[in-house]
Amino acid sequence: MDCLFCKIVAGTIPAKKLFEDESVLAFADISPKAPVHILIIPKKHYASLNEFGNGNVGADEELLLGHLYSVAARLAGTQGLTGGYRTVNNTGPDGGQTVDHLHVHLMGGREMQWPPG
Ligand code: 5GP
Ligand code: ZN
Repeated sequence: MDCLFCKIVAGTIPAKKLFEDESVLAFADISPKAPVHILIIPKKHYASLNEFGNGNVGADEELLLGHLYSVAARLAGTQGLTGGYRTVNNTGPDGGQTVDHLHVHLMGGREMQWPPG
């Protein structure tokens, strides 16, 4: 499959890995928008969060979505983001998604602005 993040999972494209277990991989964003900017992805390919919106989501997939966020919180701890942080999921063109493999951004190390653009 011609997917950038699947290639990072497969190891054919290098990335600075920060966490890995059987279902999830986290790595540094190549173009960080904050002092800490980590992407947390499922190892299995899902194009976007929208794949979970069809009413046919299995319990294991619900757990996977939660796991992405608990890994984000764990990384926030190991990265020392004691003052807070932001988790972001961009979905589809209007959501600003540019890589079509589901991912959660973990950003921190500076004060975030609201609302995002
Ligand atoms: P999106 O815009 O889809 O929400 O986020 C995609 C993110 O992937 C962007 O923040 C972008 O900097 C990051 N990115 C794009 N290509 C690569 C790459 O080859 N390696 C890594 N580590 N991050 C990438
Ligand atoms: Zn993929």
